Amino acid sequence: MKVTLWGTRGSLATPGPETVRYGGNTSCVEVRGADGTLLVLDAGTGIRRLGGKLGPEAGRVDVLLTHLHMDHIQGLGFFRPLDQSGQEVHIWGPPSTTLDLRARVSRYLSPPLFPVRLRELPSRLTLHDVPLAPEEIRIGGLRISAALVCHPGPTVGYRISDDTATIAYIPDHEPLLGAARLPSSDWISGFDLAANADLLIHDSQYSATQYPKHVGWGHSAIPHVLEFAARTGVKRLVTFHHDPRHDDAALDRLVDEARSSGDLPFEILPGVEGACFELGHAMRNQRQTTLE
Ligand SMILES: [Zn+2]
Ligand SMILES: [Zn+2]
Repeated sequence: MKVTLWGTRGSLATPGPETVRYGGNTSCVEVRGADGTLLVLDAGTGIRRLGGKLGPEAGRVDVLLTHLHMDHIQGLGFFRPLDQSGQEVHIWGPPSTTLDLRARVSRYLSPPLFPVRLRELPSRLTLHDVPLAPEEIRIGGLRISAALVCHPGPTVGYRISDDTATIAYIPDHEPLLGAARLPSSDWISGFDLAANADLLIHDSQYSATQYPKHVGWGHSAIPHVLEFAARTGVKRLVTFHHDPRHDDAALDRLVDEARSSGDLPFEILPGVEGACFELGHAMRNQRQTTLE
């Protein structure tokens, strides 16, 4: 499995000279299976560049939305495969008790918010309310499970496995919800999604000092993420969904603080736009590259 980060910013796209290294695009992650299966996790502004790299022979494309906050869907209208006649695209998202996914995504992809309606797109598009664990979906050689996690509105995280590795993607998540410590494992939001994953991509929005003013907003402070990663037994943690107020220097500092905060049983990898991780047999190929 190969994982590429196309957007790691939280809440609002944040371009500018002070965010050029970590990047300003909002949530979008490409996952490639060994057989070429393509999953796109969230459709933040980072999805535009990914779409530009996919040729007309991209094959089936599956976009897995965690939820419908704007920073996770804003790039949909600019994702080239959706605008290609005959291209097979599937969009999966959290179930809701009120409206199906097509009706909810159409709220954004329709006037006055967007000039083109979802139904006018020329691609062969199917929308699915994603089934929740313990049910799994299989796309190509990848097994995917989704579970609701603690964040305002229906929100899921994803766990994706092939025969050699497992990744967990939980970009917007507040498992502590104002508590001093995480509860016992059975009660931790997102626990089963992340358990023993080779790579966890997780909400790291706030510093410890910022969090008290944002309890209930649906995001984590970095010390909470470290505790979550340790309790779930992951091998690597990628910091993600960076606060728009955190420039490159601040994010470097937060990663340094996290690394020096104790003897952590996992590796911390800063969530830098353009980073690419190859997982698989013995995780030997993990690397970071810069996108051209
Ligand atoms: Zn978000
Ligand atoms: Zn959100």
